[in-house]
Amino acid sequence: MSVLPEAIETIFQQVKARNPGEDEFHQAVKEVLESLGPVLVKYPEFSDHKIIERICEPERQIIFRVPWQDDRGEVQINRGFRVEFNSALGPYKGGLRFHPSVYLGIIKFLGFEQVFKNALTGMPIGGAKGGADFDPKGRSDAEIMRFCQSFMTELHRHLGEYTDVPAGDIGVGGREIGYLFGQYKRLTNRYESGVLTGKGIGWGGALVRKEATGYGAVYFVREMLRVRNDSLEGKTCVVSGAGNVAIYTIEKLLEMGAKVIACSDSQGVIVHEQGVDLALLKQLKEEERRRIEDYALHHKDARYLPGGNIWDVPCQVAMPSATQNEINGRDARKLVRNGCIAVAEGANMPTTPDGIRVFIEAGIAYGPGKAANAGGVATSALEMQQNASRDSWTFEFTEQKLDDIMTGIHAATWETAEEFGAPGNYVIGANITGFIRVANAMLALGLI
Ligand code: NDP
Repeated sequence: MSVLPEAIETIFQQVKARNPGEDEFHQAVKEVLESLGPVLVKYPEFSDHKIIERICEPERQIIFRVPWQDDRGEVQINRGFRVEFNSALGPYKGGLRFHPSVYLGIIKFLGFEQVFKNALTGMPIGGAKGGADFDPKGRSDAEIMRFCQSFMTELHRHLGEYTDVPAGDIGVGGREIGYLFGQYKRLTNRYESGVLTGKGIGWGGALVRKEATGYGAVYFVREMLRVRNDSLEGKTCVVSGAGNVAIYTIEKLLEMGAKVIACSDSQGVIVHEQGVDLALLKQLKEEERRRIEDYALHHKDARYLPGGNIWDVPCQVAMPSATQNEINGRDARKLVRNGCIAVAEGANMPTTPDGIRVFIEAGIAYGPGKAANAGGVATSALEMQQNASRDSWTFEFTEQKLDDIMTGIHAATWETAEEFGAPGNYVIGANITGFIRVANAMLALGLI
């Protein structure tokens, strides 16, 4: 990856100084800025109007107290966040994460990436992200509901179908979106379906939203392999995580004739050379909310590796679908050495800068999260369209739209990478394509 040109380096140092201690945010900003040198040469107006400086500063950052009572009657206090990063292209859009590791730096990195990802979809959505340092693990349904109600009691004043539209992310799935939507409806006295996405089918939700991020990531790999005259048929794959993105990544990989031999959670790794049993995985994770360790109780030929590293498992296609910085330089080298030819990121920023360098230098097909996992938010935008027109589309129709969007993102990032002298480099392709779309809108809207 290139060294930052001087003017951009100065901006990056300012971003670091203004946002101390937010390492993940610095990492996400640096990755984008490293791609932008040639853009400023071609479009000097972006420098004149300080677009980069403005794009790195969120439009609004909200931090709030979330008090709630647990089942024993004890008062608990968490911290809630919503970072409304950029609304040049449309209402703020981006998920909510409930995880104990959440702090401002994580929400800002996710919000920053979301701005460019949403631009890549070509849909009218700005970028935001939110969440709380709340740990849902081991909490009862009643506790989750009380937490969600308290969280929304503050957040609702900042939301609206034309203002800011959250969705799920780690720790926030259909159950949480239900409780959040219920409280929003109660507080505002409005059935404003378009204010949240990822809703249940039957009360405003859209078919394919649950599957969209995983399916979309697989479409992206299919395209990366297609331009290399290859396909997923018969490929051995490894998918990290066992949550929403991982499960539907596995489902689509299997549909496309690939074989998935490993998945994981934060405690360990399951290796099943016969092929991961998707029905069992869904039962354990979606219905029973159990640990992945229990998978091995059902399949004696599967191995559970407590604390294991999934990237040590040899594969041809790797799909990180758990969390940020889960693949470091060492892991990337191991993957390449073991014969990996494609990596597509279902998770956000799962590869460290060292790891990215290894993939790019090795010349493997590497699809960064901004492009590869954009299918989730794109389908959220399709859910908003259906809500606005009080319509509901079939699974097949919506899935075809998702496929078209992912194929379009692949084509745009591929072409931009070529245009800017970095053929096959989807990092540069995604960063530049997304940036130019947002920058042009910001120029058109005046000094905002
Ligand atoms: P889920 O909460 O459904 O699942 C997350 C999975 O990742 C779980 O298996 C979890 O294991 C594992 N995980 C989480 N944190 C860690 C950690 N620190 N170390 C190791 N494993 C971890 O979340 P999603 O599937 O929705 O999200 C996964 C990733 O995809 C995230 O990076 C998210 O930002 C990204 N993403 C999600 C989208 C969506 O539509 N949901 C859209 C675009 C990107 P455990 O249960 O043990 O914690």
